[in-house]
Amino acid sequence: MSTISKVTVLGTGVLGAQIAFQTAYSGFDVSAYDIGEAALEQAQQRFAGLAATYAKDVPGSDSAKTDAALARIVTFTDLGAAVAEADLVIEAIPEVLELKQQTYQELATLAPARTIFATNSSTLLPSAIKDSTGRPDRFLALHLANQIWKFKTAEVMGTADTDPAVFDAVVAFAAAIGMVPIPVRKEKAGYVLNSLLVPLLNAAAELAAGGYADPHDVDKVWRIATGAPLGPFQIYDVIGLTTPHNILSHGDEHARQLAAWLKENYIDKGKLGIASGEGFYSY
Ligand code: NAD
Repeated sequence: MSTISKVTVLGTGVLGAQIAFQTAYSGFDVSAYDIGEAALEQAQQRFAGLAATYAKDVPGSDSAKTDAALARIVTFTDLGAAVAEADLVIEAIPEVLELKQQTYQELATLAPARTIFATNSSTLLPSAIKDSTGRPDRFLALHLANQIWKFKTAEVMGTADTDPAVFDAVVAFAAAIGMVPIPVRKEKAGYVLNSLLVPLLNAAAELAAGGYADPHDVDKVWRIATGAPLGPFQIYDVIGLTTPHNILSHGDEHARQLAAWLKENYIDKGKLGIASGEGFYSY
């Protein structure tokens, strides 16, 4: 049983809005915090969009359920008020270390001592943030995926300081909001998913950019030989080419060559993936 009932989500952007909505949809009271009224207006639009998506795409969902979820979300621009009763704070603010550290320093003084803090960061290690939290034993990462209602993995990863009871409570909470919890037993950049996916996507780009095999043939081999439903270039199209491009651009010289190949042949031609109607495939 999860001991968590009141949840605060910090940041109501792409992921924060989804986390707030999924949590409310699962019956929890949710406080959603963002930095200003304009951001919260955008959040209301995101919540309304999610309600429509759930009613259409989530099995068993209907407008009564999504209306009830919307009614369980209260929005705030005052951080102290947003976290006053929180059992768990899930942080989904921009991926900038200094911004996260600064936010946790504020949170440390505003949140009750019992409150657990979880970062949804994709690329920053929780150990880089833990000293700012004032409670490293009650801090860990809870990594949820974009399109949370479809891609239900919840990677839970603490630091050496995380209290095992806190880890277990967050694993239970992840299950309670309909996710499949994946405990990551030691700190690892990329968690499990990106530790597997990033090398696969890079290897695929290397094969195509090097002229060894066409993207569609790379995908065919992967699908036929492993039974996987999607090949790496189909996965690029699902993710959108911009994020892999950003990751490669920050790598070594070889990675930067692959980034340039993606940019010249696809991104500069508006081929960004499914969202733009074309990537490695047309939709
Ligand atoms: P985003 O830019 O869409 O949203 C960030 C939100 O945080 C915005 O609403 C912004 O107004 C708000 N914000 C800015 N400064 C803030 C502050 N000081 N306090 C509170 N809110 C603040 O970003 P996103 O894509 O939702 O990413 C958020 C986090 O989730 C990042 O750590 C990212 O690594 C992680 N994440 C993203 C994805 C993804 O696919 N987008 C997937 C998994 C995890």
